[in-house]
Amino acid sequence: MRLINLDSRAALLIGDAALDLASASNGRFGPDLASVYDQWPAVREFAATADGSAATAFDAKRLGAPAPAPRQVFAIGMNYRAHAEEAGLAVPSIPATFTKYPTCIVGPNSDVALPTGNVDWEVELVVVIGARAERVAVGDAWSYVAGLTVGQDLSERVVQFGAGGQFALGKSFPGFGPMGPALVTPDELDDPDDLALGCSINGETVQDARTSDMVFSVAQLVAELSAVVPLLPGDVIYTGTPSGIGATRQPPRFLQPGEVLETWVEGIGRMQHRLVGAES
Ligand code: ZN
Repeated sequence: MRLINLDSRAALLIGDAALDLASASNGRFGPDLASVYDQWPAVREFAATADGSAATAFDAKRLGAPAPAPRQVFAIGMNYRAHAEEAGLAVPSIPATFTKYPTCIVGPNSDVALPTGNVDWEVELVVVIGARAERVAVGDAWSYVAGLTVGQDLSERVVQFGAGGQFALGKSFPGFGPMGPALVTPDELDDPDDLALGCSINGETVQDARTSDMVFSVAQLVAELSAVVPLLPGDVIYTGTPSGIGATRQPPRFLQPGEVLETWVEGIGRMQHRLVGAES
Protein backbone atom coordinates (compact mmCIF):
# COMPACT_ATOMS: atom_id res chain seq x y z
CA MET A 1 0.00 0.00 0.00
CA ARG A 2 1.15 3.52 -0.86
CA LEU A 3 -0.37 6.48 1.02
CA ILE A 4 -0.06 10.09 -0.12
CA ASN A 5 -1.06 13.51 1.20
CA LEU A 6 -2.92 15.26 -1.62
CA ASP A 7 -4.10 18.80 -0.75
CA SER A 8 -3.97 17.82 2.96
CA ARG A 9 -6.24 14.80 2.36
CA ALA A 10 -5.17 11.17 2.72
CA ALA A 11 -5.24 9.24 -0.56
CA LEU A 12 -4.18 5.81 -1.74
CA LEU A 13 -1.67 5.86 -4.60
CA ILE A 14 -2.83 3.34 -7.21
CA GLY A 15 -0.34 3.27 -10.06
CA ASP A 16 0.09 6.98 -10.81
CA ALA A 17 -3.43 7.89 -9.70
CA ALA A 18 -4.93 8.95 -6.36
CA LEU A 19 -7.97 7.51 -4.61
CA ASP A 20 -9.30 9.87 -1.94
CA LEU A 21 -9.57 7.78 1.23
CA ALA A 22 -12.47 9.66 2.84
CA SER A 23 -14.57 9.53 -0.34
CA ALA A 24 -13.74 5.89 -1.09
CA SER A 25 -14.58 4.82 2.47
CA ASN A 26 -17.76 6.94 2.73
CA GLY A 27 -16.15 9.00 5.48
CA ARG A 28 -14.91 6.09 7.59
CA PHE A 29 -11.23 7.12 7.22
CA GLY A 30 -9.55 10.49 6.80
CA PRO A 31 -9.52 12.97 5.30
CA ASP A 32 -6.74 14.17 7.63
CA LEU A 33 -3.54 12.13 7.68
CA ALA A 34 -3.17 11.96 11.48
CA SER A 35 -6.45 10.08 11.92
CA VAL A 36 -5.35 7.53 9.32
CA TYR A 37 -2.36 6.47 11.45
CA ASP A 38 -4.64 6.24 14.53
CA GLN A 39 -6.76 3.68 12.59
CA TRP A 40 -3.85 2.06 10.77
CA PRO A 41 -4.80 -1.67 10.91
CA ALA A 42 -8.35 -0.92 9.69
CA VAL A 43 -7.02 1.36 6.95
CA ARG A 44 -4.67 -1.40 5.75
CA GLU A 45 -7.57 -3.85 5.65
CA PHE A 46 -9.77 -1.40 3.73
CA ALA A 47 -7.00 -0.54 1.26
CA ALA A 48 -6.43 -4.20 0.42
CA THR A 49 -9.90 -4.46 -1.12
CA ALA A 50 -10.55 -0.84 -2.16
CA ASP A 51 -11.99 -0.28 -5.64
CA GLY A 52 -9.32 1.73 -7.44
CA SER A 53 -11.45 2.53 -10.49
CA ALA A 54 -12.31 5.98 -9.08
CA ALA A 55 -8.63 6.97 -8.75
CA THR A 56 -7.69 10.11 -10.69
CA ALA A 57 -4.49 11.63 -12.08
CA PHE A 58 -2.90 14.50 -10.11
CA ASP A 59 -0.10 17.07 -10.31
CA ALA A 60 2.82 16.13 -8.01
CA LYS A 61 3.00 19.79 -6.89
CA ARG A 62 -0.14 19.09 -4.82
CA LEU A 63 1.64 16.49 -2.63
CA GLY A 64 2.26 17.22 1.03
CA ALA A 65 4.21 15.24 3.61
CA PRO A 66 2.69 11.79 4.23
CA ALA A 67 3.09 12.32 8.01
CA PRO A 68 2.58 16.09 8.27
CA ALA A 69 1.78 16.49 11.97
CA PRO A 70 3.64 13.97 14.12
CA ARG A 71 3.35 14.36 17.87
CA GLN A 72 7.01 13.35 18.16
CA VAL A 73 9.87 13.49 15.68
CA PHE A 74 13.01 11.49 16.39
CA ALA A 75 16.22 11.90 14.42
CA ILE A 76 19.39 9.84 14.69
CA GLY A 77 22.97 11.04 14.29
CA MET A 78 26.00 8.96 13.28
CA ASN A 79 23.95 5.97 12.13
CA TYR A 80 26.15 5.05 9.13
CA ARG A 81 29.72 3.94 9.71
CA ALA A 82 31.18 5.90 6.76
CA HIS A 83 29.42 9.08 7.94
CA ALA A 84 30.86 8.73 11.46
CA GLU A 85 34.29 8.31 9.87
CA GLU A 86 34.00 11.44 7.71
CA ALA A 87 32.89 13.40 10.80
CA GLY A 88 35.86 12.01 12.78
CA LEU A 89 33.56 10.61 15.46
CA ALA A 90 33.22 7.16 17.00
CA VAL A 91 30.24 4.95 16.14
CA PRO A 92 27.93 5.32 19.17
CA SER A 93 26.89 2.33 21.30
CA ILE A 94 23.33 3.66 21.63
CA PRO A 95 21.45 5.73 18.98
CA ALA A 96 22.49 9.41 19.13
CA THR A 97 19.00 10.95 19.27
CA PHE A 98 17.69 14.48 18.78
CA THR A 99 14.45 16.02 17.49
CA LYS A 100 13.34 18.14 14.57
CA TYR A 101 10.41 20.36 15.56
CA PRO A 102 7.32 19.34 13.55
CA THR A 103 6.80 22.85 12.09
CA CYS A 104 9.79 22.16 9.78
CA ILE A 105 7.99 19.34 7.92
CA VAL A 106 7.10 19.99 4.27
CA GLY A 107 6.18 17.92 1.25
CA PRO A 108 8.32 16.40 -1.50
CA ASN A 109 8.32 19.23 -4.06
CA SER A 110 8.38 22.55 -2.22
CA ASP A 111 10.78 25.47 -2.48
CA VAL A 112 12.98 25.78 0.63
CA ALA A 113 14.18 29.24 1.74
CA LEU A 114 17.82 29.24 2.85
CA PRO A 115 18.39 31.09 6.13
CA THR A 116 21.67 32.88 6.84
CA GLY A 117 24.43 30.36 7.59
CA ASN A 118 25.64 27.05 6.17
CA VAL A 119 22.76 24.84 5.03
CA ASP A 120 23.72 21.21 4.42
CA TRP A 121 21.95 18.21 2.90
CA GLU A 122 21.28 14.82 4.58
CA VAL A 123 19.32 12.16 2.70
CA GLU A 124 17.55 9.85 5.16
CA LEU A 125 15.14 6.96 5.23
CA VAL A 126 12.13 8.08 7.29
CA VAL A 127 10.04 5.68 9.39
CA VAL A 128 6.40 6.44 10.27
CA ILE A 129 4.91 4.63 13.28
CA GLY A 130 1.57 2.83 12.88
CA ALA A 131 0.80 1.66 16.43
CA ARG A 132 1.67 2.76 19.96
CA ALA A 133 5.05 1.17 20.68
CA GLU A 134 6.28 0.85 24.24
CA ARG A 135 9.30 -1.29 25.17
CA VAL A 136 8.99 -3.42 22.04
CA ALA A 137 11.45 -6.20 21.22
CA VAL A 138 13.66 -5.94 18.12
CA GLY A 139 11.95 -9.02 16.69
CA ASP A 140 8.49 -7.39 16.94
CA ALA A 141 9.53 -3.87 15.96
CA TRP A 142 8.57 -3.90 12.26
CA SER A 143 4.94 -4.64 13.18
CA TYR A 144 4.78 -1.17 14.81
CA VAL A 145 5.96 0.55 11.60
CA ALA A 146 3.26 1.93 9.27
CA GLY A 147 5.76 2.42 6.47
CA LEU A 148 8.77 4.18 5.06
CA THR A 149 9.28 7.36 3.10
CA VAL A 150 12.08 9.53 1.71
CA GLY A 151 13.41 12.37 3.89
CA GLN A 152 15.93 15.19 4.03
CA ASP A 153 17.34 16.26 7.40
CA LEU A 154 18.32 19.75 6.22
CA SER A 155 20.75 21.29 8.71
CA GLU A 156 22.11 24.79 9.27
CA ARG A 157 25.53 24.01 10.74
CA VAL A 158 26.28 27.34 12.49
CA VAL A 159 23.21 27.14 14.75
CA GLN A 160 23.58 23.34 15.05
CA PHE A 161 27.04 23.58 16.57
CA GLY A 162 26.52 26.90 18.41
CA ALA A 163 26.28 27.08 22.21
CA GLY A 164 27.89 23.66 22.58
CA GLY A 165 25.47 22.02 20.15
CA GLN A 166 21.78 22.65 19.54
CA PHE A 167 20.83 20.10 16.90
CA ALA A 168 17.06 20.58 17.33
CA LEU A 169 17.16 24.27 16.41
CA GLY A 170 19.75 24.04 13.65
CA LYS A 171 17.70 21.34 11.91
CA SER A 172 14.25 22.94 12.31
CA PHE A 173 14.17 26.09 10.17
CA PRO A 174 10.97 26.27 8.08
CA GLY A 175 11.12 23.69 5.29
CA PHE A 176 14.02 21.74 6.86
CA GLY A 177 12.03 18.48 7.21
CA PRO A 178 10.94 17.45 3.71
CA MET A 179 9.38 14.02 3.32
CA GLY A 180 7.50 12.11 0.63
CA PRO A 181 6.37 11.48 -2.01
CA ALA A 182 4.49 8.49 -0.52
CA LEU A 183 4.37 6.38 2.62
CA VAL A 184 5.19 2.84 1.43
CA THR A 185 4.32 -0.18 3.56
CA PRO A 186 7.22 -2.61 4.18
CA ASP A 187 5.54 -5.46 2.28
CA GLU A 188 5.88 -3.41 -0.95
CA LEU A 189 9.69 -3.66 -0.72
CA ASP A 190 11.84 -6.70 -1.54
CA ASP A 191 14.05 -6.03 1.51
CA PRO A 192 13.07 -3.01 3.62
CA ASP A 193 16.43 -3.28 5.43
CA ASP A 194 18.52 -2.86 2.27
CA LEU A 195 17.48 0.11 0.13
CA ALA A 196 19.68 2.32 -2.04
CA LEU A 197 19.39 5.99 -1.07
CA GLY A 198 21.04 9.20 -2.21
CA CYS A 199 20.72 12.78 -3.28
CA SER A 200 22.06 15.12 -5.95
CA ILE A 201 22.59 18.85 -6.39
CA ASN A 202 21.80 20.12 -9.89
CA GLY A 203 22.17 16.53 -11.10
CA GLU A 204 25.56 15.85 -9.42
CA THR A 205 25.26 12.92 -7.00
CA VAL A 206 26.59 13.87 -3.55
CA GLN A 207 25.33 10.96 -1.43
CA ASP A 208 24.96 7.35 -2.58
CA ALA A 209 24.63 4.47 -0.09
CA ARG A 210 22.45 1.62 1.15
CA THR A 211 20.36 1.43 4.33
CA SER A 212 21.94 -1.95 5.10
CA ASP A 213 25.00 0.08 6.21
CA MET A 214 23.10 1.54 9.16
CA VAL A 215 24.70 1.06 12.59
CA PHE A 216 21.22 0.63 14.16
CA SER A 217 18.61 -0.93 11.86
CA VAL A 218 15.01 0.29 11.69
CA ALA A 219 13.94 -2.50 14.07
CA GLN A 220 16.75 -1.68 16.51
CA LEU A 221 15.85 2.02 16.46
CA VAL A 222 12.18 1.30 17.24
CA ALA A 223 13.24 -1.00 20.09
CA GLU A 224 15.85 1.41 21.53
CA LEU A 225 13.63 4.53 21.30
CA SER A 226 10.51 2.79 22.62
CA ALA A 227 12.51 1.53 25.61
CA VAL A 228 12.56 5.16 26.79
CA VAL A 229 9.66 7.01 25.11
CA PRO A 230 6.34 5.50 23.93
CA LEU A 231 6.12 5.93 20.15
CA LEU A 232 2.70 7.08 18.91
CA PRO A 233 0.85 6.49 15.63
CA GLY A 234 2.05 9.02 13.05
CA ASP A 235 5.35 9.67 14.85
CA VAL A 236 8.38 10.02 12.62
CA ILE A 237 11.96 8.74 12.85
CA TYR A 238 14.67 10.25 10.62
CA THR A 239 17.06 7.31 10.66
CA GLY A 240 20.37 9.07 9.99
CA THR A 241 22.38 10.08 6.95
CA PRO A 242 25.16 8.23 5.11
CA SER A 243 28.48 9.84 4.10
CA GLY A 244 28.75 12.66 1.59
CA ILE A 245 27.40 15.69 3.47
CA GLY A 246 28.79 19.14 2.62
CA ALA A 247 30.29 20.16 5.98
CA THR A 248 33.04 17.51 5.99
CA ARG A 249 34.19 18.15 2.38
CA GLN A 250 37.48 19.88 1.64
CA PRO A 251 36.62 22.65 1.09
CA PRO A 252 33.18 22.52 2.74
CA ARG A 253 30.20 22.94 0.41
CA PHE A 254 26.73 24.22 1.31
CA LEU A 255 23.45 24.68 -0.53
CA GLN A 256 23.05 27.88 -2.59
CA PRO A 257 19.98 29.75 -3.86
CA GLY A 258 18.91 28.46 -7.27
CA GLU A 259 20.24 24.93 -6.74
CA VAL A 260 17.91 21.93 -7.05
CA LEU A 261 18.26 19.14 -4.47
CA GLU A 262 16.92 15.78 -5.61
CA THR A 263 16.55 12.99 -3.01
CA TRP A 264 15.61 9.36 -3.48
CA VAL A 265 15.18 5.98 -1.81
CA GLU A 266 14.92 2.83 -3.90
CA GLY A 267 11.37 1.45 -4.15
CA ILE A 268 9.84 4.51 -2.45
CA GLY A 269 10.35 7.48 -4.76
CA ARG A 270 12.04 10.83 -5.33
CA MET A 271 11.70 14.36 -4.01
CA GLN A 272 12.85 17.58 -5.67
CA HIS A 273 13.42 20.83 -3.77
CA ARG A 274 14.51 24.18 -5.17
CA LEU A 275 16.58 26.28 -2.78
CA VAL A 276 15.69 29.95 -2.75
CA GLY A 277 17.11 33.00 -1.00
CA ALA A 278 15.56 33.99 2.32
CA GLU A 279 12.80 36.59 2.09
CA SER A 280 14.06 39.99 3.07
ZN1 ZN B 1 20.44 13.61 9.97
